[in-house]
This record gives sequence, C-alpha cells and structure tokens, in this order.
Amino acid sequence: MAKRDFYEVLGVERGASEADLKKAYRRLAMKYHPDRNPDDKAAEEKFKEANEAYEVLSDAGKRSAYDQYGHAGVDPQMGGGGAGGFGGANFSDIFGDVFSDFFGGGGRGGSRGGAQRGSDLRYTLELDLEEAVRGTTVTIRVPTLVGCKTCDGSGAKKGTSPVTCTTCGGIGQVRMQQGFFSVQQTCPRCHGSGKMITDPCGSCHGQGRVEESKTLSVKVPAGVDTGDRIRLTGEGEAGSHGGPAGDLYVVVNVREHPIFQRDGKHLYCEVPISFADAALGGELEVPTLDGRVKLKIPEGTQTGKLFRLRGKGVAPVRGGGAGDLLCKVAVETPVNLDKRQRELLEEFRKSLEGDSSHSPKASGWFDGMKRFFGDI
Ligand SMILES: [Zn+2]
Ligand SMILES: [Zn+2]
Repeated sequence: MAKRDFYEVLGVERGASEADLKKAYRRLAMKYHPDRNPDDKAAEEKFKEANEAYEVLSDAGKRSAYDQYGHAGVDPQMGGGGAGGFGGANFSDIFGDVFSDFFGGGGRGGSRGGAQRGSDLRYTLELDLEEAVRGTTVTIRVPTLVGCKTCDGSGAKKGTSPVTCTTCGGIGQVRMQQGFFSVQQTCPRCHGSGKMITDPCGSCHGQGRVEESKTLSVKVPAGVDTGDRIRLTGEGEAGSHGGPAGDLYVVVNVREHPIFQRDGKHLYCEVPISFADAALGGELEVPTLDGRVKLKIPEGTQTGKLFRLRGKGVAPVRGGGAGDLLCKVAVETPVNLDKRQRELLEEFRKSLEGDSSHSPKASGWFDGMKRFFGDI
C-alpha cells in the first residue's frame, strides 16, 4: 500500500507551523486513539498513520528530509533515519509530550480517562574499559512494574470490570467550592481514572500492574563512555489504565582500569623505565588494548616524556577514527643495590663531577637559582 502524504494525513498545509502540526495531530490522535475506538481496525490504522506523520514532521531534520525526498528520505528501511540504539524513532516521546496533558493525570470524562504512560526507568550499567571499547552484549535484570496478567491490567477481578466512579461520575475531576471560587481537583476516590474497582484482582490488589524483574539483553555499541545512554523503547514501567509503557535508559559507567586512563578517544598510561634504559636508550614493551607493542626509547629520555602511539586509543561510538595511546615515561630510581652495583654508581657519580653537560635539567635549574639569589 502506498503511503499517503504526511501533510495530507494531518490535514495541514506544507508550510504549517509547529503549533499547527501539533494541534492537527492532537485532534486526530484524540479522535482515533485506540482507547476510544476499541476493536476498530480502521481507527487504529488512522491513529498509526497520524503518529508516523507527526513523528516525522515534528522533527525539523526529518521534516526537511521528507520535504526534499518524500517518504524515501525518512523511511528507516532506506537507511535514512538515526541508526541503532541511539536516537532513532521514538513514538513514546511524542506520546508523553502530547498526551500527558490530555490522557495523563487529568482524565477526560471519556470512556477510559486516566491512561498514564509508565515511568521511564534508569539502569546503571557498569562496564570494564575493554567492554566499553569493543562493545558487548550484556544481560541485565531490571525490577519493573508490568501489566498484571490475571486481570489484563484492568485491576478488576476476573469476570468483573471496573465501574464508573460514583464520586466524579467518571470525569476524574471534582469541583470543590472554596470561598467564592470553584476549584477543579483530581477526584480523590478514583485518582483521576474515572473508574472504581469494586472487586479488586487478587494478584495486583487492584493496581493493574505487578512488580516483576525482567531479563533484557542489551547490545552495547563499541566505543561507549561513561554517561552514554542507550534507550530501550517501551521497556520501562508498564502504563496504567491502558497507557503505554515508559522507556528504559541504560546509562553506561566505565570502571577504572588498572593501567589505562581514558579521556574521550585517547588513552593514557604510565610506563616505568629503568634509569639505565632512560640514559642509554632501549626498547620497551608497552601494553595496549590489543596486546603488547614494542616502543623504542631514544637515549637521554627524561622522566615525564610522552610517547604517542597513533590509533591505539578508542574508536568513538559516534564515529570518527580511533584516538591515540599516550605513554608517559617514569624513570625509576634503582633500589636494593648490592655492593658491586653501588661501586659502579659511585664511580659513575665521580665521573660526572664538575661537568654539568650531562644533566640539562639540573644545570638549567642551577642557572635559574643563581639569577634568583644573585651571583654567589
Ligand atoms: Zn490484576
Ligand atoms: Zn472519581
């Protein structure tokens, strides 16, 4: 079936403002919402069609792609939209945005007022640096509220159904007289749902939802870093009174690594080298995330010197080339010397006496001190 033009679906002009789009979408969504048209396939199709149209036209980027290329410009199958676990289509955002003030909380006198979107959940996922860099698939257990299977989420005992609230007459709101003013308030009896459960379901005690921990498999893309979020649409808490489920946000936290520190796409590590290697030059084995590599150290290397290994850092999750690994050399003072080693060093010390050309740092430092204190 060919798709209808999105502007035509919403019944607006091509140049329609954001507010007009939203208004048109609300009108259609209210009219065709499945809660209001139970078992009406045609209405359900219209509802989906309107959702799709609004999802595209309400997003400036997608709208301009649609204006230029038509459906091909925004069809996820055509490789247009956002990819993978990040970004991408999000029905629930629109739903939350547009419906929170309509179906949520307030409850609009209709047949099933009080439908509320379930809460979004946040799950902190601890990863090792290696897992974050290479990507992984993890299984997580998340405690959440899910729709009660015994009563199909209605909260009423099997064979019974919720009845219209007698306090508010199903409106979900009551008028209270306060002095001169008449104030509208959420009905205290049905909490805005417009329904009362006279015979509550035994499994969920009338809540329509039960606590359960569910097991989810999460694909973590390579290159994620602390603070990155992976959204699992619809895996949050179940909605109440027929509302949609919230989303689950998996927030990445990368554990500290014993060797590497990470700063964005670059990795840092400290490599101890012997006093003799630093002076004479040599070859070191340094660790990278892909195993050891050899690093040539020139003679006369000072402590604190950084060596850069290009491309041995992290390939960022949002694309671009891998960063570098920066190895900082720390010259180690030898300890636990035996008699012979001491003699060699004593001899070595004597050989340096009176010649500052072997210690560029120290001679620079003494020069500075002389200038500071005046010639002594
Ligand atoms: Zn139940
Ligand atoms: Zn009520």
